[in-house]
Amino acid sequence: MNSGICATGSCNCGAVAFAVKVPLHSVFICHCSICRKSTGSGGIAVTIVPKQALHFIGNTEQIKKWEKPNHDWLTQFCNSCGSPLPGKNDENTYYIPVSLLDSGYENLEVKHHLFVDSKANWEEIGMMGKQHKEAFEK
Ligand SMILES: [Zn+2]
Ligand SMILES: [Zn+2]
Repeated sequence: MNSGICATGSCNCGAVAFAVKVPLHSVFICHCSICRKSTGSGGIAVTIVPKQALHFIGNTEQIKKWEKPNHDWLTQFCNSCGSPLPGKNDENTYYIPVSLLDSGYENLEVKHHLFVDSKANWEEIGMMGKQHKEAFEK
């Protein structure tokens, strides 16, 4: 692949696309109630990359944000199709919802389950990955 691109991804409608310049390995699944509502599912599976490794391509005007009123949680999504998009994890990192990936997902493996205490009552967590009651702890 050209210029160090290790992975690429896009939303359902293709308006928003991105390239990642680091190899991707670890998947974190967040089962918290907010991630469950934002996906309508059991949670969201993401990988974490350094800020400078993520590059949005194309129509970034389609990127919409929603932030909780107390500012402790933020999601970005496509304004036309509603797919969740990569967003700020902390000062130095971004999270990428792994199901957006079109390439570079071959070595992904579930490593951590977060907010397991908040999981949906119908969900059963599989064998892979360490389970954390709340936020990630080393
Ligand atoms: Zn879209
Ligand atoms: Zn969450």
